[in-house]
Amino acid sequence: MYAASVDRLITELSKLPGIGQRTAQRLAFHVLRVSEQDALALADAIREVKERVGLCEECFNLSEGPRCRICEDQRRDRTVICVVEEPADVIPIERTHEYRGVYHVLGGALSPIDGIDPEDLKITELVKRVTAGEVQEVVIATNPTTSGEATAFYIAEALREQNGDVSVTRLASGLPMGADLEYADEVTLGKALAGRRAL
Ligand SMILES: [Zn+2]
Repeated sequence: MYAASVDRLITELSKLPGIGQRTAQRLAFHVLRVSEQDALALADAIREVKERVGLCEECFNLSEGPRCRICEDQRRDRTVICVVEEPADVIPIERTHEYRGVYHVLGGALSPIDGIDPEDLKITELVKRVTAGEVQEVVIATNPTTSGEATAFYIAEALREQNGDVSVTRLASGLPMGADLEYADEVTLGKALAGRRAL
């Protein structure tokens, strides 16, 4: 219907989450309308983030260097590791200001139906971190969903097999069941952290 290049832009935009065909069209026309400078700033930002951002070699959070800002921060408490599914889950926990430990990002949750098995997540790396040193507590903050709960129990078992001394806790209930951590408000999440229980 449109010029091939416009069609291509619409196709690419419609691959973004929550963007349907009509919104993709509207965004594409917006891009065509704005100045070249503004449009290319978006293209450059996408290119730069893909070139510069990788995963932290310690916790697998997003990072511009070998280690993320949290792992680099000497004031963080290295005796506590908070385990989350995705890098986006670190942000709401940081916003509560209740947590001073470090993180471990799994890269998803167990879901056999979708073919996501333990070896697809950074679980071995977590066990290695915990057995290597000074860790006293692992707070499992996977989402309160079926796959998040399954992941929490799997990790608790794996850690217990390797190191009986480490305390494994889970965020207190109160988080809406089936919800994503990413969308939890600070107060609820802060309370869930403060009231964490042994798993
Ligand atoms: Zn890190």
